[in-house]
Amino acid sequence: MSIATIDPTTGETVKTFAAATSDEIEAALARASERWRSYRKTTFAERAAWMHATADLLEAEADDVAALMTLEMGKTLKSAKAEALKCAKGFRHYADNAEAMLADEVTDATKVGASQAYAQYQPLGVVLAVMPWNFPLWQVVRFAAPALMAGNVGILKHASNVPQSALYLADVIARGGFPEGCFQTLLIGSGAVEGILRDPRVVAATLTGSEPAGRSVAAIAGDEVKHTVLELGGSDPFVVMPSADLAKAAEVAVTARVQNNGQSCIAAKRFIVHADVYDEFAKLFVDRMNALRVGDPKDPDTDIGPLATEQGRKDVEELVDQAVADGATVMCGGKRLDGPGWFYPATVIGDITPEMEMYTAEVFGPVASLYRAADIDEAIDIANATTFGLGANAWTTDDGEQQRFIDDIEAGGVFINGMTISYNELPFGGVKRSGTGRELSAHGIREFCNIKTVWVG
Ligand code: NAP
Repeated sequence: MSIATIDPTTGETVKTFAAATSDEIEAALARASERWRSYRKTTFAERAAWMHATADLLEAEADDVAALMTLEMGKTLKSAKAEALKCAKGFRHYADNAEAMLADEVTDATKVGASQAYAQYQPLGVVLAVMPWNFPLWQVVRFAAPALMAGNVGILKHASNVPQSALYLADVIARGGFPEGCFQTLLIGSGAVEGILRDPRVVAATLTGSEPAGRSVAAIAGDEVKHTVLELGGSDPFVVMPSADLAKAAEVAVTARVQNNGQSCIAAKRFIVHADVYDEFAKLFVDRMNALRVGDPKDPDTDIGPLATEQGRKDVEELVDQAVADGATVMCGGKRLDGPGWFYPATVIGDITPEMEMYTAEVFGPVASLYRAADIDEAIDIANATTFGLGANAWTTDDGEQQRFIDDIEAGGVFINGMTISYNELPFGGVKRSGTGRELSAHGIREFCNIKTVWVG
């Protein structure tokens, strides 16, 4: 894939970039490794000051960087601005809390025959971050903010279609005051990842993206015995039971599905509705999906902008067309929009059977699949019938049912009567093929630490 800004609203190539040469990659690795030696000795207070300064810049520049994200990947301008501000919050959260999160864990020394015994969190070193385009800033910041506060340094290989967002990130972090080499962007294709990951100066990697990319990075890292965090795909269930507030559930279901033009790992993708309320929920949901405005992401009235890439729209189209050819029903949408840009409408598909690829695949666009479940057991079976296990949503006011969903849905998170959202305060990650490890909260910052056992006799 060439490294370029291609406007998904028009399909036009705006700017192309040359990939970093092997000399430039070598220089970046040398700089990172050298910088880490001194950066690891900086204090939490110093790092926190640079983090807050970076957050100040992000807030001041939110409109400009939002326009850049919209240009590069088509998210609505209002959601892009919200993303920039969320990143500022992420920097501040770790600036204010990292020291407490990484405090020594003291144990009763007498039980281990010592005068002092504790676990100390120390930084690991140079970490490679391979990141996706769908939240061009936030996906990176939720790695970078805790990693930098822990005393690590980062090298970013961002998705090839968001090079300007990638360059902005390294620039804003440098302007925030972080010493040169703490956080560098390398414009490279995915083919260059293996060499960097195998370099002894790189100690660990984090990848957010698709399952094939995760598998490849994990295999190389495994071969090198290096730690990885993987945040991969999802096909989150959204279960609606009879006791739910159906109007509210339908309203949230729409947001949960079409957020970020339908391209979010934690978007609710499969709507599993109890038979007693299926027809009523389906009507409420389809009416709301039908009412969404698809168009220019810069227009404040737009709900859904274009998909980020031409290939992405093709993938969505193929999944829908195949399901329909095999007997699924289109309840709204279902056909690409004419004209330039990679637009696809809000779509609801019913009558999906386990034989269809859509039953198990992740549909990365504004397409909801609707399932009818006879009871809670069947609802949970359908919810768990994919290889993914990222987020999950369940709507019910019944305490016993809430507990069943909390206990039995196979996912890294479950949200009852609400939609899945990433919060700085809560761990984020998946089980099954949705990934390994956790981001955010104290769990996220500890991923790239050496938990050093200290025993003093
Ligand atoms: P992708 O194709 O896997 O790309 C993600 C990143 O990995 C890009 O930087 C890409 O570089 C790189 N990459 C691709 N193949 C690689 C390989 N074999 N070796 C090393 N690097 C490789 O994913 P995407 O289509 O951009 O993003 C959508 C996917 O990300 C969805 O499945 C979504 O659910 C998932 N996602 C997960 C989370 C989460 O937190 N769990 C969050 C957001 C997105 P190039 O651009 O140069 O190919």
